[in-house]
Amino acid sequence: MILVCGAGGFIGGHLVRKLLDDGKTVRAVDKKPKTEWYQLHDEAQNIVLDLSDEANCRLACNGVDEVYQLAADMGGMGFIEKFRIECMRSVLINVHMLESAQKAGVKKYFYSSSACAYNVDKQQEVTSRGLKESDAYPANAERGYGWEKLYSEMLGQEYVAERGMEVYIARFHNVYGPNGTWRGGREKAPAALCRKVATVVETEGSSMEVWGDGKRVRTYMFIDDCIMGIQKIMGCSKLIGKPINLGSEERMSVDGMIDEIESAAGICGINRVYQPDAPKGVVGRASDNTMIREILGWEPSTSFHDGIKITYDWIHQQVINSRSGKKVLD
Ligand code: NAD
Repeated sequence: MILVCGAGGFIGGHLVRKLLDDGKTVRAVDKKPKTEWYQLHDEAQNIVLDLSDEANCRLACNGVDEVYQLAADMGGMGFIEKFRIECMRSVLINVHMLESAQKAGVKKYFYSSSACAYNVDKQQEVTSRGLKESDAYPANAERGYGWEKLYSEMLGQEYVAERGMEVYIARFHNVYGPNGTWRGGREKAPAALCRKVATVVETEGSSMEVWGDGKRVRTYMFIDDCIMGIQKIMGCSKLIGKPINLGSEERMSVDGMIDEIESAAGICGINRVYQPDAPKGVVGRASDNTMIREILGWEPSTSFHDGIKITYDWIHQQVINSRSGKKVLD
């Protein structure tokens, strides 16, 4: 039995689909009511549990061989800059899940960390070099969300060192794709920008608001690469207790992203109204994939151009459905 925590969320929903397609038996757990899960797969054992509670973690881990721990209270910059307490309280999930998994005899445990765990001093220029795994220390992670990730990574490493559980840790860099958060305040930049462009298209508008000055840089990973990477990492014993970047190396500025989304939408020239005081995060953050190339001989390869077209089409449809009063997922 494989347990996916946070299965009602974006990445968890895609991971459950893939594991089921691979013929695995899956227990899918999330604290949201099932009506709010982005994907609900009938073939899985779907259970609503709040995993910040230790007793619920013990229930979830009962009879499980492998855990994928993706549950976290999180969102894009608009959420993680404003709700640091919620982000840091995800530590409860990680503390109780690691202990419950180990006590239940779980053999392999995956933890979804984040590029936000990296030292922010190394991300102050648009041209800052890609972040290597060693750049997390000396530690100066993103306040709130990033520190929680770094602490939980270390806790996972101690379960390897002291208790012999196989813990695998990936630092995701900005994942995007269909069936994820696209409005409501937790959405990330690619989804928010797709929604804004689709809204301009549907309302025959001419301008949209853009957080920041359009120049900040990130590397974005399409969801299919993320799922493939998770599975490859879990299959590589060299990576036990060794945090590794899981991201693309293709750098995109916010303006570059909008150009690509406009192209996916078949329009151009939307007037961009920049909002310098909106949440922005660090200036330049990119993945350095030297380690993943060396160890796995693989790295995420879907171009932003290709991935964002699929994502835009899905979000455009959500905008259409929402405007016509049909049910959509937030
Ligand atoms: P998501 O918000 O779509 O999914 C997270 C899920 O966890 C949600 O469905 C939420 O209801 C659930 N959850 C929160 N608290 C819970 C609790 N106490 N008990 C049970 N379930 C709980 O986020 P996502 O984009 O799918 O991210 C999955 C993981 O990957 C998270 O740990 C996130 O921090 C990490 N990550 C994501 C990205 C990204 O770009 N999406 C980047 C870096 C790291």
